Amino acid sequence: MRKILIIESQGELRAAHMALLSHEGYEIIVTDGSTAALELIRKQYPDLILCALELSGGDNFELLQYLQHQPDLLSIPIVLLTTIRNELRWRQSVSLGADDCLIVPFSDRDLLDAITIRLRKQDALTTRYNTLMRHTAERLNRLSRYDSLTELPNYQLLKQRLEQAMRRASKGKQQVALLTLSLDRLRQVNNTLGYAAGDMLLTAAAQRLTGILPRSTAVARLTGNQFAIVVPAPKSRDTIIEMVSDIFTSLGHSFSLPGQQVFMTASIGIALFPEDSEDISVLLRQADAALDWAKVQKSHSYRFYRPDLPVVSGDELQIETWLRYALERDEFEVWYQPKYSLSQGRIVGAEALIRWQHPETGYISPGKFIPLSEETGLIVPIGDWVLKTVCSQTAKWLHSGQPVVAIAVNLSSVQLNQADLAQRIQTILTDTHLPPEHLELEVTETALMQDIEPAIALLHDLKDLGVRIAIDDFGTGYASLSYLQKLPIDILKIDTSFVRNIHENATNQSILRHVIAMAHELDLKVIAEGIETEIEMHTLKGFGCDLIQGYWVGTPMDATEFAQRL
Ligand code: C2E
Ligand code: MG
Ligand code: MG
Repeated sequence: MRKILIIESQGELRAAHMALLSHEGYEIIVTDGSTAALELIRKQYPDLILCALELSGGDNFELLQYLQHQPDLLSIPIVLLTTIRNELRWRQSVSLGADDCLIVPFSDRDLLDAITIRLRKQDALTTRYNTLMRHTAERLNRLSRYDSLTELPNYQLLKQRLEQAMRRASKGKQQVALLTLSLDRLRQVNNTLGYAAGDMLLTAAAQRLTGILPRSTAVARLTGNQFAIVVPAPKSRDTIIEMVSDIFTSLGHSFSLPGQQVFMTASIGIALFPEDSEDISVLLRQADAALDWAKVQKSHSYRFYRPDLPVVSGDELQIETWLRYALERDEFEVWYQPKYSLSQGRIVGAEALIRWQHPETGYISPGKFIPLSEETGLIVPIGDWVLKTVCSQTAKWLHSGQPVVAIAVNLSSVQLNQADLAQRIQTILTDTHLPPEHLELEVTETALMQDIEPAIALLHDLKDLGVRIAIDDFGTGYASLSYLQKLPIDILKIDTSFVRNIHENATNQSILRHVIAMAHELDLKVIAEGIETEIEMHTLKGFGCDLIQGYWVGTPMDATEFAQRL
């Protein structure tokens, strides 16, 4: 029922207006003064105000003026009733927001028409406003939840769908499969046929996917060429595999682009809730890890996530981004950990260890970022930087007469796979004027054993440069002692794990005695790393170990401090 506020002094006229309007079905509120009216308007929020305050008095203007400044009340239509024929007053009222003015005497019809028209206009405005608001809200909603190119749900909506599916699945003790799919050759299409063609291809692929998959599955576009598919409650792995094979078949048909037919291949990674994880973001990364694995296979292949696959953590992603800029921004430093000769009783060299001081988070340990830089290939420029820095620093020390025998640099397995590694090291030695015998290269046992034959060839190339070669972390890999004979190496670096509390560990004592004796027979020097206590030092000295490195001699330190220790 529409509500009308009548502001009119008591009397026959007011009674007549009230009677007429209630008879017409309006709900009536009534008052005779402007102050009470304001209160009523605020409380009751009428659909229309019928105001008979005299146009000659100030009350009328005050009321209109007040309403003008109330944004939420501004839209209430106001019809004035007056006995004064004064166009100026009338215009003033309109300019203050009155919508109509009836001059007494007027007929009932006049009054009802005036009210109906105002209310109808009001309704039309409200409807238009509501529609506009709804459209805007829908548009915003779509934009925030759907990909504008393919019109598929985006990452936000995918997460919701996945959450729903997981909630339902856990009630029914069922699984949810999360598939991530990447179109393998989108980049070539973009590069050769242009981005418009790439967009067409993406749209067509999206349509094919939604076309063949059951309605219960949700397909979303995650990034450029990557899609995700949520399969709620698959009966078994076979159901998923069938679905995957349908996807490959469908995407395997050629796509018609202007002037060209192209063929696409795709790779799919699959992670299962709750088997692999119950956490959405972990599940997504697991599916991605499986996808990465699938991509290495031939085209059109899929892989289920396995716990031994490396999954990128949020942390790692952040570090990876920083890592890309760290060299440019000069955030790395090389520190030196002294190597101590047990027979000479003095420091004869050091191991160079990279240090990364990030401006925001501070120190990030090599244990965290070296594996990541190996995965991303960034270890190659980083490793070159370490080599250059160390060689030029060592050359400076030699120049200034410091008794440094050799500084060791760690080489990663990724660097070992660089065909031109020996060449690059040669260039660095030449550029920094460092005689090669002062550079030592530490290669871990595990890195060597990955692909032993080419590794042996490479070690020979390195050896020919005149540098010294050490096997790092010896004892942690699977290098059999007989292999050592074949390797052109100079130093065995025994891993910390054998050294820790050596005086209390009879097994390790006997291993170390044998390893040291055998190494000496092969004309290798032995260095033990991670020596933290005097007793560990004495024990190793007793076994004939040549060198030690560890906190007992000194922790890694910057170049200035190391020069002082020398
Ligand atoms: P690593 O080559 O075996 O280096 C020895 C690690 O043991 C260093 O850790 C060193 O700080 C630590 N350490 C030394 N003495 C002791 C000790 O007495 N007790 C204990 N508990 N630890 C000791 P850091 O510097 O964190 O380096 C870790 C690993 O990161 C290195 O192991 C090496 O594999 C790698 N790394 C460091 N710098 C480089 C680099 O420039 N290039 C490459 N490719 N790898 C590097
Ligand atoms: Mg090392
Ligand atoms: Mg080591």
